[in-house]
Amino acid sequence: MEKGLIICFTGPSGVGKTFYAKRLIEKYNFILPTIVTTRLKRTDDGENYMYVSEELFLQMLKNGSFVEWDKYLDCYYGTLLNNFNESLTLKNVNGLILDLTPSGCNKIKEIYPLAKIITILPDDSNWLIKRLISRNSQPLEEIERRTAILEEYISEVKKLECDFIYANYSENSWDKTFKEIERIIFKTAK
Ligand code: 5GP
Repeated sequence: MEKGLIICFTGPSGVGKTFYAKRLIEKYNFILPTIVTTRLKRTDDGENYMYVSEELFLQMLKNGSFVEWDKYLDCYYGTLLNNFNESLTLKNVNGLILDLTPSGCNKIKEIYPLAKIITILPDDSNWLIKRLISRNSQPLEEIERRTAILEEYISEVKKLECDFIYANYSENSWDKTFKEIERIIFKTAK
C-alpha cells in the first residue's frame, strides 16, 4: 500500500466520522494527528485531543503551531504542525486521518494536493439529531447549538470538491459505508 496517504473526513458531528476513522486505523495502520481545541472535553473524545484556553490557542496560532485551523461555533480547532509532520514519517503508519471543517479541508488540499477529502453526510438529518441526543456525550444546550446550524453547515460542506457519501446509521449500513470509504481511498492508490 502507498504510504503517506492523507484523508480528510468532513461532515457534521455525529455522522460517524470517528467510527470510520477507528476502522481505518485498525485495518490499515492509519493515525489521527493531535487536535488542539478550546472546546470542552467530551466523554467520547479519543486520546488525540489537547484542550487549551483560547489565549493559549491564539498564542500557538501566532507561533505557527498549526498546519491548519478553524473556528466552529465559538471554539477553535487546529491540527498540530509538528505532530502532523512526525506522524507522516512514522515507520508503521500508512496514512493520516483528519476530521476537519470545510475550510480546514481546503487548507490541507492547498498544501497537499494529493490529500483526499471524503464528506460523510446523513441521508436524513433526523437520525443525526436523534443520535447526538442519545449518545449523551455533550450537554443538550450544545447539541441544540449544533442542530441549529446543521442545515447551514451541510450546505457549506456540499460546496467542497470531493467525494460524498450519504450514510445511514444502522448496524447493517456501517459495513457498506466503510466499503465506500475504502473504495474512494484506494481507487488510485492500491
Ligand atoms: P467536534 O466539536 O464535534 O469535535 O467538531 C466540530 C467541528 O469541527 C466538526 O465539523 C469537525 O470536523 C471540526 N474539527 C474538529 N477538529 C478539527 C481540527 O483540528 N481542524 C479543523 N479545521 N476542524 C476540526
